[in-house]
Amino acid sequence: MDQLLPPEIDEAARSFASALAACGDLNALMRLKGAYVGREGSHAARMMDLLKAAPKEHKRELGAQINAYKQQWEEALKGRQTDLESAKKAQDALAAGWDPTLPPPVPAAGALHPLNRLMDRLVDVFRPLGFHVEEGPEVETEAHNFDGLNIPDDHPAKASSDTFYLAAHPELLLRTHTSPVQVRTLLRVAPTLAERGGIRFLAPGRVYRKDEIDPTHSPMFHQVEGMLVGHGIGMQHLKGTLEYALRTLFGPHTEIRLRPSYFPFVEPGCEVDVSCPLCGASGCRVCKGSGWVEILGAGLIHPNVLSYAGIDPTVWSGWAFGMGVERMAMMLSQTPDLRLFFENDQRFLKAMGGLD
Ligand SMILES: [Zn+2]
Repeated sequence: MDQLLPPEIDEAARSFASALAACGDLNALMRLKGAYVGREGSHAARMMDLLKAAPKEHKRELGAQINAYKQQWEEALKGRQTDLESAKKAQDALAAGWDPTLPPPVPAAGALHPLNRLMDRLVDVFRPLGFHVEEGPEVETEAHNFDGLNIPDDHPAKASSDTFYLAAHPELLLRTHTSPVQVRTLLRVAPTLAERGGIRFLAPGRVYRKDEIDPTHSPMFHQVEGMLVGHGIGMQHLKGTLEYALRTLFGPHTEIRLRPSYFPFVEPGCEVDVSCPLCGASGCRVCKGSGWVEILGAGLIHPNVLSYAGIDPTVWSGWAFGMGVERMAMMLSQTPDLRLFFENDQRFLKAMGGLD
């Protein structure tokens, strides 16, 4: 019964449609709602006036038509409200830095620290040769840390300026090297050494010295110790084993050289250089142009070390070596500053390949 509708109602229906289309946010939508379907709204009130003014016989029909329009508008408003609300939610999320169109974040998985991975690699090199891993406490006795290793009382390493002694237990200290693991292991296996036919092991771990923190020093660092005891063991065994291990680590063309050196727990002692794995021994910044880099200290076990553990040095002999893990990691990764390994900077750890 369209012909019954006054032109104002027709006009209101058209203006509602265009106003709804132009409604850009929830506030505008609420205003539109108030005007068209609210009790006090101007369009709603105008329609009630028209209804009152209509001839009696048309009132019922006109009323029904006005209600139909209002219902239609209410539904349209509701639909538009839902759309605007979800648009606003997405916008708020974007403003808060969350993009709902991105794939969900994958939780970062932990990874082994580059130093741990390097120690694992060293262990993996020696494992096929029959070496296992021995561990010892980081809080040690003077006996295990010094006496059992033929380190004399007047040795500077024993001074409290070099070593952390425990204030409450001055006979205890933070181990200054992984070598006390040699003493502990030899003491433990001495009674069964003949049955075993000897022993060979690695001892990776944390050690402590009173060093000021700088690019090449830290009061805490890591070492890997290696030891072998058997019959008739000499320098040739040491050299052969190290050559094999270092070639496995750095490549088949790696050369090593032994230079005489002194450590109280070995006799003879040596420092071991490896042909620079970074430049192929042609000379670079890391090897300071020499083609060689010092990689570890080693030697034949001092008879006093064997005797201390109750092992007869006329029957048994062996070798030992110790290497600084940070030093090797710095060389391999060309990291100039040791502190980077301890600062937990994710960018550095990622660059080192520990994190994906
Ligand atoms: Zn080099």
